Amino acid sequence: MRVPKRVAVIGAGSMGSQAMWRLAARGAEVIGYDRYAPGHDRGAAGGESRIFRAAHLGESGYIPLLRLADGLWEQLQAETGRSLRRRSGCLVMGETVSPSMRLLLSVSTAHRLDHEVLDRDDFARRYPQHRLPEGHTAVLDRMGGVIRPEASVQAAANRAEQLGARLHRYTPVREVARASGGGVRIVTDHGTDHVDAAVVTVGPWINTLLPDLPRAVDVRRVICSWHVPTRHDWFADGALPFVRSTPHDCFGLPSPDGLSVKIGLSHARHLPVPEPERLDRTVRPEELATFHELIRELMPDLNPDPIRMSAYMEGYTESGNPLVGHLPGEDDIIVMAGFSGSGFKISPAMGEIAADLALDGATAHPVDFLAPAGVGAA
Ligand SMILES: Cc1cc2nc3c(=O)[nH]c(=O)nc-3n(C[C@H](O)[C@H](O)[C@H](O)COP(=O)(O)OP(=O)(O)OC[C@H]3O[C@@H](n4cnc5c(N)ncnc54)[C@H](O)[C@@H]3O)c2cc1C
Repeated sequence: MRVPKRVAVIGAGSMGSQAMWRLAARGAEVIGYDRYAPGHDRGAAGGESRIFRAAHLGESGYIPLLRLADGLWEQLQAETGRSLRRRSGCLVMGETVSPSMRLLLSVSTAHRLDHEVLDRDDFARRYPQHRLPEGHTAVLDRMGGVIRPEASVQAAANRAEQLGARLHRYTPVREVARASGGGVRIVTDHGTDHVDAAVVTVGPWINTLLPDLPRAVDVRRVICSWHVPTRHDWFADGALPFVRSTPHDCFGLPSPDGLSVKIGLSHARHLPVPEPERLDRTVRPEELATFHELIRELMPDLNPDPIRMSAYMEGYTESGNPLVGHLPGEDDIIVMAGFSGSGFKISPAMGEIAADLALDGATAHPVDFLAPAGVGAA
């Protein structure tokens, strides 16, 4: 009988919980570790909602990964009986001449993504919640929708446990390194484990565990703010999640209880996080100013006084592309980090790819452009 491969997954958050699920589904002996427990809100996965969208503002390399993720989201829901994602469509708006909007339109057309470019009058009639400044374009991405992040992380981790995975909760890994006799050594406060391969998915804590990454991951504090509409009919015809690219650089989602709208800001507006374990989770009144400006200009029917503000963390790379693959020079250590504010939607695809890399040493899915050392690097 073939002995199953023993694979450690370090960090059972967005990517790690999915990696545990896909590895366990393929018969591996999976040992997971998390600093806290699946579904916590101290890292990159908190805040109640995430946008799924096919019309990505970045390069077209993401399209096959989004398609893979799309099918796996359906599969995870079917296997767990949980409602984790709702397809509603997603609005993407931005300056018509901006490179990101041009790229979005050319990629959407080239890949035949189900989308609609809205003319200004049509937009104003269908989406009165939003103002579209002169010179801006709005696109409806029909594949888009909303994912529930905390519930998804729990569902994937619990499904992995049902399939035989073991998870050490509240167990931070202190060290991961090649073992002298082959395989990988995992050190925790309780002792040392040996495994055949390790998948490192510690999100914003990546620089603490692996300080010498081939590409830098800049960890930032991401704040979100929830606002109640002043008009009772704000949600009447179904409000959609939205992304505003240049120059507003923000996103928003109607909260799942239909009470408020969550607004978040894009990378440039976030403060650095020197120590993830000391994230400043208190949001100061002066940090509200940007939200006030965005509301006044773009969604004047929201009350500018928030009912909730929260702080999370995310790792960003210079290119915006995460590091996905074997660590250079290591056949058995796989890293997935630096998802730069847009990783949640593709997390099941990352789980599948982690399983390929850990069990087969390679993947047929197109992720060379995300290689940890960068494309073309040795
Ligand atoms: C506010 C906000 C909004 C976002 N909106 C969107 C969106 O709309 N759509 C989208 O697609 N993406 C979005 N993103 C990005 C997406 O959520 C992240 O890219 C994704 O969650 C990153 O997942 P991760 O697995 O790298 O990190 P995490 O989900 O944070 O997982 C890391 C896990 O590792 C554990 N850990 C850390 N250190 C150790 C250790 N030493 N040992 C063991 N365990 C450890 C942590 O406890 C944690 O559970 C958003 C991010 C934020 C912060």
